[in-house]
Amino acid sequence: MNPRILDVALGDRSYSIRIGSALLRDAEGLRACAPGRHVLLVTDANVATHHLAPVRAAFAGHAVELVVLPPGEQEKTLARFGDLMAALARLGASRDATVVALGGGVVGDLAGFAAACWMRGVRFVQLPTTLLAMVDSSVGGKTAVDLPEGKNLVGAFHQPAAVVADTDVLATLPDRELRAGLAEVLKYGAIGDPAFFAWLETQAPALLARDPAVLGEAIARSCAHKADVVARDETERGERALLNFGHTFGHAIETVQGYGGLLHGEAVAVGMRLAADLSHRLGRASADDAQRLAELVEAFGLPTRIPPGLDPDALLARMRLDKKNLSGRLRLVLWRALGRADLVDGVDEAAVRALLAE
Ligand code: NAD
Ligand code: ZN
Repeated sequence: MNPRILDVALGDRSYSIRIGSALLRDAEGLRACAPGRHVLLVTDANVATHHLAPVRAAFAGHAVELVVLPPGEQEKTLARFGDLMAALARLGASRDATVVALGGGVVGDLAGFAAACWMRGVRFVQLPTTLLAMVDSSVGGKTAVDLPEGKNLVGAFHQPAAVVADTDVLATLPDRELRAGLAEVLKYGAIGDPAFFAWLETQAPALLARDPAVLGEAIARSCAHKADVVARDETERGERALLNFGHTFGHAIETVQGYGGLLHGEAVAVGMRLAADLSHRLGRASADDAQRLAELVEAFGLPTRIPPGLDPDALLARMRLDKKNLSGRLRLVLWRALGRADLVDGVDEAAVRALLAE
């Protein structure tokens, strides 16, 4: 079964996503990702402990600068971006340099933004190590850093030259991070693939037990969905917005709760449950469909309810500010049915407020 290769087609360009076991031990395969002499290798301390050695060894013949960040979202800053620029300058990196991100979405977003900016754009390779990064952030070319005023406010579209997802690295991922990644996997079924959703319903125990074949299949099918959407809508003018299912609610929860609350995937799990229930209440989708979504979220060990103490009005105010809104009208991804999502403008705020207050 090893490896699966998906091609992401973008106009006249394309890149491949490789998914499988032992890919980080394939030194030749990794070297082929960096044809130039210069490599900036970016990772975080957790990932470095478990998975850096084979990657570092693969690039032994390159001129390499290694940056190991402390783990966590708080590192996705302009200051760290500046550190990466300084590392590239120390390297004397030329136009054919490659920036390699070994890590989760934080490392990927930051390193990708550095690759987008150095000399107006150099080669970028993603070696995702979280489930979320494998199924979501490493595919699609969005790169960014955060400002104190908000997440991902500074960034660029910069597509990777290759994505290499070695599923063996998931063995060391904390359970909570694995479950948070499963929320994004579930999302692909929920917005566009009822058969995938039904398959996930049967595979929840195997996924939580990290059965390699089942995880590999879930990752490949998720990446295929994301790659498809991105190929049709690279810069989010239309269809790509459907990937925000559960996210307007989720972002509001993340912002209002502040630091140390639900993880992104957990907040999105709650958000998808809310979006499904709202779709039912507005007469757009059946109670059965909403129930199935809530049950799969629970089967994945993810939360379905807003954490206690979050003010419904603060959540609603935050949702109105979501950057996907037009002129202050509430815009949400809602269901027609499980597996069929639409972007809906001018959603009834009273119904949303009532749901947030439960
Ligand atoms: P993360 O990068 O913070 O990783 C989560 C935790 O897992 C960290 O503590 C990390 O050190 C640890 N870790 C990573 N891989 C590990 C492994 N194999 N073994 C043990 N520990 C490991 O978080 P994330 O959930 O991967 O990514 C979240 C970020 O992704 C956010 O900043 C979000 O904005 C971004 N994101 C970007 C996109 C996009 O399209 N660019 C999409 C979704 C999310
Ligand atoms: Zn997400």
